[in-house]
Amino acid sequence: MPANHADTAVIGGGIVGLAHALAAAKRGDKVVLFERDDFSVGASIRNFGLIWPVGQNPAVYRRALRAREIWLEIAAKTDLWCPQTGSLHLVHQPDEEAVLEEFLATTPAARDQGCRMVSPGEAARLSAGVSTEGLLAAMWSPTELNVDPRRAIPTVALHLAAEHGVDVRFGTTVRGVSLPHLDTTAGVWRADRVFVCSGNDFETLYPDTFAAAELTRCKLQMLRTPPQPGTWQLGATLCAGLTLLHYAAFKHCTSLTALSERMHEQLPFYGDNGIHVLLSQTADGALTIGDSHHYGKTHDPFESEAVSEAIMDYLKTFAAAPDLSVAQRWTGYYPSAPGGQTEIVAVPEPGVTIVNGLGGAGMTLSFGLAEENLAS
Ligand SMILES: Cc1cc2nc3c(=O)[nH]c(=O)nc-3n(C[C@H](O)[C@H](O)[C@H](O)COP(=O)(O)OP(=O)(O)OC[C@H]3O[C@@H](n4cnc5c(N)ncnc54)[C@H](O)[C@@H]3O)c2cc1C
Repeated sequence: MPANHADTAVIGGGIVGLAHALAAAKRGDKVVLFERDDFSVGASIRNFGLIWPVGQNPAVYRRALRAREIWLEIAAKTDLWCPQTGSLHLVHQPDEEAVLEEFLATTPAARDQGCRMVSPGEAARLSAGVSTEGLLAAMWSPTELNVDPRRAIPTVALHLAAEHGVDVRFGTTVRGVSLPHLDTTAGVWRADRVFVCSGNDFETLYPDTFAAAELTRCKLQMLRTPPQPGTWQLGATLCAGLTLLHYAAFKHCTSLTALSERMHEQLPFYGDNGIHVLLSQTADGALTIGDSHHYGKTHDPFESEAVSEAIMDYLKTFAAAPDLSVAQRWTGYYPSAPGGQTEIVAVPEPGVTIVNGLGGAGMTLSFGLAEENLAS
C-alpha cells in the first residue's frame, strides 16, 4: 500500500470523528484521522462530559446505551476517568413530580435500566451535592456516566493510535475531498471512504450539503468551580425541574404542558435564555455547571453575566457544595439539526459521509451512531 493511503479517512478530531475512527478501525480498516488544530478545542472538550442516556429521544435510547458500553470498554483499557455516577432529577414541585411519574409509567426501557423515584433521604445518600431543603422526591437513573472532556478526548485519541493503529494527524486541515483523493495541508492522501465530522465548520467542505441540511449553531455558557476541598465527591450528577423542559425524553409527557406554563410564568428569563442547570464533577474534583442555549448561524463570543448569575442562582435552589465559587467561565458552540432530528448523516458523493448535528448529545451518542454508520 502506498504511504499516503488509508481505507478510511476521518476529518475532525472531536468525539464524532474519534468515534467513527474507532468503529472503522474495529472493522479492520487502516484509518487516518485529520484534525486541523494541534489538539481538539471544539465542542467535545467544552462540554460537561456527561453520557446521558436518560434524557435522550426514545428513538436513540438504545444507541446511547451502546455508546455507554463503548465508553466503559475504553475506560477499562486506559486511564480514562469514567465514574458510573448515575443521575438525579430533583423534584421541588408537584408538577415536576407528575412529569417524572408519567415518564416512568410510559418508558419501560428506562424502568428496565433501573430508573425509579426515590425519597429525599435516598437522593441525599446518592449525591453529596443534594440540597434537601424543599425537596419532595427525585428520579434516580443509574445509567449516566461522567468523563472529564478535557482529558477524555485526548485519551481517546491516544487510545485509537496505540490500541487500534489509527494514524491521528493533528495540525492537518483537509482543504478538499474528491475521492479517492483528499487535499490536506500535509499533502494529498488517498482513501476509499471518508467521514466528514467537522463540527461547527459547515463552510469548508461540502457547503451546499450543509446548507441543505439547515443546521444552526447553539451557543452555551458554562462555569467551573475550583477543585472541591479534601476528598469531597459529588456522586450522582444533579439536575432539577428546568431540565425536564430541555430533554427529548420527556417531550411526550402530557403533564409537561402545565410545568412548562408555570416555568415560563415564574422564570421567563430562564426560558428566554434556554437555561437549564446540570451539576457534574471533573477528574480533579472541580464542579462543572451550566448551561444556556442561544441559537443562530453566527454568535458573538461574549458571555452574559446575567445568564451566568441566573445559572448559579438556580443551581443553589437544588444543590450545595463546599466551594461554589467560580474559577472558570467559557462558551461552547455545537451544531444543531432542525426539527428535533438527533443527527445529520448525509452522502454528498459516493464514499463520503457527513456526520454532524448531534446537538447537545455528542458525547452520549457518537460511539453508538458510528457503529451503526460503519455497519451500513
Ligand atoms: C457547553 C456544551 C456542553 C455539552 N454537554 C454535553 C454533555 O454533557 N453530554 C453530551 O453528550 N454532549 C454534550 N454536548 C454536545 C457535544 O459536546 C457535541 O455534540 C459534540 O462535541 C460534537 O462533536 P463534534 O466532533 O461534531 O464537534 P467538535 O468537537 O467541535 O469537533 C469537530 C472538529 O473538526 C475539526 N475540523 C473541522 N473542519 C476540519 C477540516 N477541514 N480539517 C481538519 N479538521 C477539521 C475541528 O477543528 C474540530 O476539532 C455539549 C456541548 C457543549 C458546547
